[in-house]
Amino acid sequence: MIYEVIVDISSSNVDKVFDYYGEDFFCVGQRVLVPFANKQIEGFIVGKKEHTDVPDNKLKSLLLPLDEYVALSPEMLSLASYLQYKYHLRLIDALRLFIPSQMRGGKVKEVFSKTASISTNYTSQQILIELGKKAKKQVELINYLVEVGSQDTITLNKMFGVALNALTKKGYIDISFTPRQRTPYKSLSQTKQAHILTTDQQNAYDTIMSNLSDPYLLFGVTGSGKTEVYLRVIEQVIASGKTAIMLVPEISLTPNMLRLFRSRFGENVAILHSGLSVGERFDEWQRLKRGQARIAVGARSAIFAPLQNLGVIIIDEQHDSSYISQSNPRYDTQVVAEFRAKYNNCCLVLGSATPSLDTFYYATKGKYKLINMPSRINERPLPKVELVDMSLEMRMGNNALFSVTLKNELDECLAKGNQAMLFVNRRGYSSFLMCPKCGYVAKCKDCDVALTYHKEDNQLKCHYCKNRYKVLDVCPVCKNNKLRQGRMGTEQVVAYLKTLYPEVEVLRMDFDTTQTKESHVRILDAFSLRKAQILVGTQMIAKGHDFPYVTLVGILDGDQSLYHSDYLSSEKTYQLLTQVSGRSGRDKQVGKVVLQTYTPKHYCLQLAKDQDYLAFYKKEINLREATNFPPFTEVIRILYTSPTSQKCVDLLNKHYAVIENIKESYPNDFLFLQRMRCPLQRIENKHRYQILIKLSADSADQILQQIYQATDIQDKEVSVFCERNPQNLS
Ligand code: ADP
Ligand code: ZN
Repeated sequence: MIYEVIVDISSSNVDKVFDYYGEDFFCVGQRVLVPFANKQIEGFIVGKKEHTDVPDNKLKSLLLPLDEYVALSPEMLSLASYLQYKYHLRLIDALRLFIPSQMRGGKVKEVFSKTASISTNYTSQQILIELGKKAKKQVELINYLVEVGSQDTITLNKMFGVALNALTKKGYIDISFTPRQRTPYKSLSQTKQAHILTTDQQNAYDTIMSNLSDPYLLFGVTGSGKTEVYLRVIEQVIASGKTAIMLVPEISLTPNMLRLFRSRFGENVAILHSGLSVGERFDEWQRLKRGQARIAVGARSAIFAPLQNLGVIIIDEQHDSSYISQSNPRYDTQVVAEFRAKYNNCCLVLGSATPSLDTFYYATKGKYKLINMPSRINERPLPKVELVDMSLEMRMGNNALFSVTLKNELDECLAKGNQAMLFVNRRGYSSFLMCPKCGYVAKCKDCDVALTYHKEDNQLKCHYCKNRYKVLDVCPVCKNNKLRQGRMGTEQVVAYLKTLYPEVEVLRMDFDTTQTKESHVRILDAFSLRKAQILVGTQMIAKGHDFPYVTLVGILDGDQSLYHSDYLSSEKTYQLLTQVSGRSGRDKQVGKVVLQTYTPKHYCLQLAKDQDYLAFYKKEINLREATNFPPFTEVIRILYTSPTSQKCVDLLNKHYAVIENIKESYPNDFLFLQRMRCPLQRIENKHRYQILIKLSADSADQILQQIYQATDIQDKEVSVFCERNPQNLS
């Protein structure tokens, strides 16, 4: 048989099918070892056939299969081709998405426990007679095994010393090997039981169950109880013998979801995300693959869970930008989910209080069935949001980080014994160090960005690369010793709280405090157990969390994300503010939100204050239509990066010329075509240029294939990335 193999090398030169001869027992989808350019390397079998054009003397043979199972299902293979088509990925990069990365190169293996039991060749009586009276420990061990049946060897060695070894040598004991699970979040506490569904929940559940092969948009305000609906749907799907995927946007949200899922479904749940140890990820993947677990819970990458016979895929907080992979291999999780849902004829549920604009638009067009959950559980009111104008505050002489309103609310919240969450979308102490005399700003030598001051480490850090710098006390240019700091970050807020409330415990959750394994859980558990009264954090604390004692949410610089100049900034800001606000007053006590801003009149903030998604949607969708932005068009960015600026420009110009030609054949569908330096001109010492294109949504797929081809002209020193509707145009 001839097998078609994609070799595991991520390079465009070899990203094509190579033919090999192999015995009939190899399977399509299997990982194999193959001879390639005088080496032995790993590859994936993606097809088989009777004949090849490769002459006999050139045809090499497959060496051996790498796993005892077939790693990739037919579904995964067609998904890979689809991703390759849609996003212009290398096939190998797409295939790599489907298996834990450390499985490649055999860097991770199963671990086994050894279990001892009495050999089936003897009865215990026979052994005891043979042993006689001398071998006391050995007799004890045999008697013990008679009682317990079998026991792991580690325990037996502890109890009986070398007796086990001796008995094994004599053949009286059989040792069996069973895979040992490395289980993530082992000590996670269990949680409360199922709720009786409210009318809204019941209605949502019934609608979904009435047709389990449709896509739904579950549009429910924060605290409307979407999770319980997910759990019930999954329960039914599992009962019918199918499998399920449950996605949450951030690793920090997985423990809580896992807690709920484990209490409901026990061992049937496996978790997949990049924060697990290599062994854990491998074992969880294996459990799904073998069908020992039929529910995959996790962040973005869990969409590739090796499950067959899917019954439902749920994407919670559907609007979240973490669902879009922004580095190679680029893909949109929702697009992958739609593919898998169609392939399996299964249900897709997208949940959000603030659906992304295009998803809501498509729901109004009938692509998703819209289900509303307009009120919070038990008619609990949404929190009251107060906008505070910080420029007014300054004019009245308050230069502090907190407005008078926020300070008063905090006092009251703490005095009542409640909890507060303070949100600031920047880590570190302050966003920059600048000399007010000469205008010098401390910048990264390799990136086109200002450095962030981190007081705790007493360093200046670049948030775009790993560079660290000594803190400056005087301006290196004019020697002025009074440097000005930029806008506040999480560290500064915590420090300020210490001066205001020295006796109050404060927790901080941001990138810097969550670098160690399971640190998310530690912080969130501590807050949940009310070991601290205030939690300060970045967008990590914005979504999903459900803390009943939080009655105050402070948003310290609410308009920060409005300053980005791309078309998504209003949408992102609205979503973020609604999500953060939604953390307040989720239980019996009414919640409050204080939103500090310099642009209180901006429609985005006004509508976020009223928590009126539909009004926001109407305003924003009209704007998008008038200005030709998604979902009415597709924005394409082709990004060029290289250490040499000129090489970027040369390659870009070559592509641009071809694209201009394509444009001429589609005069009505090309709404925009420009080339330029990126706003962030340099990152990690690489220059950045881009071509921006806007295509009419209907013909985007078709035209893009030609644009992709145009970008196949390569230069070794320039990397080229095509993105569809990029989340970030910096
Ligand atoms: P959402 O995801 O829509 O923001 P959650 O699913 O987190 O909301 O639910 C909010 C809170 O309401 C949770 O504490 C949850 O335990 C509780 N809850 C959910 N459904 C019910 C119900 N039917 N009865 C009582 N409490 C419920
Ligand atoms: Zn840098």
